[in-house]
Amino acid sequence: MDFTTLCIHGSDKKYDTTGAVSVPIFQSATFVHPGVGLSTGFDYSRSQNPTREYLEQTVAKLEGGLDAMAFSSGMAAITTLMEIFSPGDHIIATDDLYGGSHRLFQHISVKNGLTFDFVDTSRINNIRERIQPKTKAVFIETPTNPMMHVTDLAEVARLCKAHDLLLIVDNTFLTPYFQKPLLLGADVVLHSGTKYLGGHNDTLAGFLIVSDEALSERLRFLFKTTGACLSPFDSWLLIRGIKTLPVRLDRQQKTALQIAKWLLEQDRIKAVHYPGLPNHPGYETSKKQASGFGAMLSFETDCSETAHRVLESVSLIQYAESLGGVESLITYPMLQTHADIPAEEREARGIGDCLLRLSVGLESAEDLINDLGQALKGGNTNA
Ligand SMILES: *Cc1c(COP(=O)(O)O)cnc(C)c1O
Repeated sequence: MDFTTLCIHGSDKKYDTTGAVSVPIFQSATFVHPGVGLSTGFDYSRSQNPTREYLEQTVAKLEGGLDAMAFSSGMAAITTLMEIFSPGDHIIATDDLYGGSHRLFQHISVKNGLTFDFVDTSRINNIRERIQPKTKAVFIETPTNPMMHVTDLAEVARLCKAHDLLLIVDNTFLTPYFQKPLLLGADVVLHSGTKYLGGHNDTLAGFLIVSDEALSERLRFLFKTTGACLSPFDSWLLIRGIKTLPVRLDRQQKTALQIAKWLLEQDRIKAVHYPGLPNHPGYETSKKQASGFGAMLSFETDCSETAHRVLESVSLIQYAESLGGVESLITYPMLQTHADIPAEEREARGIGDCLLRLSVGLESAEDLINDLGQALKGGNTNA
């Protein structure tokens, strides 16, 4: 079945006998046992719930995986995943990582005895050089947040197989519509479903998706034991969001490229980071492993005053955290997503006071460009 059709008719089961076209919200904490030692397949909603199961089966199919687990947020998914490791285990992670993942690793996972190396994973040798006997996994984000570095997933997967390492890929930015890491050799794919999968800036969600049965069993045990599961209503919102994923992403990507090209021509813009621009260092790798470049971009203004002015003067584009929704959002990584990363480390990675990140939504390209244009000039004088 085509991906677009799967988004709408993902799971075969609807758990319903009324003929409802929309999957019902099974707002029940618990389920009656039909007899002693018997189960309908549903006992308690932390372990499983029909609405959530429908969503999980859909997401598993979209990623080409065997099993998917739906969590209450992306961070809940990553926190649970970290429980498969033991004190002493070493993980190599992308340096330009989502700020929340970095905070989890540095402040909680480290306390639990895990050790980390953060490297630019877009260069495979950086990973190879850090492998030690205790290394258990490689954690990749591609493209990265906010610098849009691209890592060659098949190449890293080969390296991981050779050293018996688990390859974990945060696929939030491209979604399975554009990139399917499991099919490129990854062991675990994770998502902040809050972003493109939900797509409407209205709910939090997270996913872990795997292809291996034993790994699925281990994670399912942790999932029901730690308990950060997605509620039936939020599961329904995700089911609804996913139906329009391909059409949203096609349009958002098209607009993102238009905006990236327009930004390149502006005097006050010094650099534009978007993998869909042919001179971006990750352009060729993106073309090889993904069917699209996504709708996230970042850009550098000429000075911090300009960056501040843009943040304060945009009117259609909203200055708010998060990404991937129908509303365009602009963020200041230095003060928001990456505030917990030490200044020196942050600056070394290019996340300074001139860098802005834009999540391109579904508004018209012309309106978004006009908004950025007036903001760069210093605010709308006609307003
Ligand atoms: C937002 C985000 C997360 C965390 O997800 P939440 O749903 O906010 O908990 C993880 N990774 C990436 C790439 C993200 O953008």
